[in-house]
Amino acid sequence: MHFHVVTLFPEFFTSPLSSTMLDKGRERGAIDFSVIDVRDFAHDRHRVTDDTPYGGGQGMVMKVGPLVEAIESAAAGGARPRRILLTPRGRVFDGEQAERLASESALVLVCGRYEGVDERVSAVVDEEISIGDFVLSGGEPAALIVIDAVSRLVPGVLGCAQSAAEESFSDGLLEFPQYTRPAEYRGVAVPEVLLSGDHGKIARWRRREALRRTLEWRPELLERADLDDDDRRWLEELRGRGGGDG
Ligand code: SAM
Repeated sequence: MHFHVVTLFPEFFTSPLSSTMLDKGRERGAIDFSVIDVRDFAHDRHRVTDDTPYGGGQGMVMKVGPLVEAIESAAAGGARPRRILLTPRGRVFDGEQAERLASESALVLVCGRYEGVDERVSAVVDEEISIGDFVLSGGEPAALIVIDAVSRLVPGVLGCAQSAAEESFSDGLLEFPQYTRPAEYRGVAVPEVLLSGDHGKIARWRRREALRRTLEWRPELLERADLDDDDRRWLEELRGRGGGDG
């Protein structure tokens, strides 16, 4: 997977893209990055990439020409990568979208700034994504969130593929509780079953705890989760006890 990031602030990506999982993924050859500076596509010697909005109003708008040419420069000559504009009006990003994007071979992530981008940029992208119903000052943090969430689903990025398969949302539920040494801390003990070595019992306990947590914190997820009869019986029992905290 090759991520092309189109931005006015290339330096924003220097540290995040060269640390931990992302750098390891690059070393393993599973992912790669190109950061494209929109200013390199400005049409004048002052490298201007924004202008005042037609019709008046606050702030500046990113100009269409430099942005479109920067987007088109990504993988020019090769297969056309899927193009994504980061914008608060886009479809809200979630685990399903991350999985869908992880199956692409290349993505272009377009970061807006100021009051946003000229509307005509929308015509050259394939989709628009928001990372939530709030407004950031730029698309760069949103692009990093998409890169991180998608990368961990690309084969070869995580050391252990099972890690992504067992995490929150992977099966429509929140993750079960995790513990590590010591077995007791300030009087709070790790649940006995986890020390039992009985993998069947551990798996059953984890499934039930995942259901309990989801019922308690994100009950709406249960409507779309893949549940069997045992899960449904357990949820009924929990509801009978007064919710997920019983
Ligand atoms: N005036 C725009 C509006 O009201 O929708 C907001 C512009 S925002 C200050 C600047 C840039 O940050 C946007 O062009 C977009 O790229 C990015 N951005 C802001 N919030 C975002 C969000 N929730 N998800 C994705 N990108 C976002």
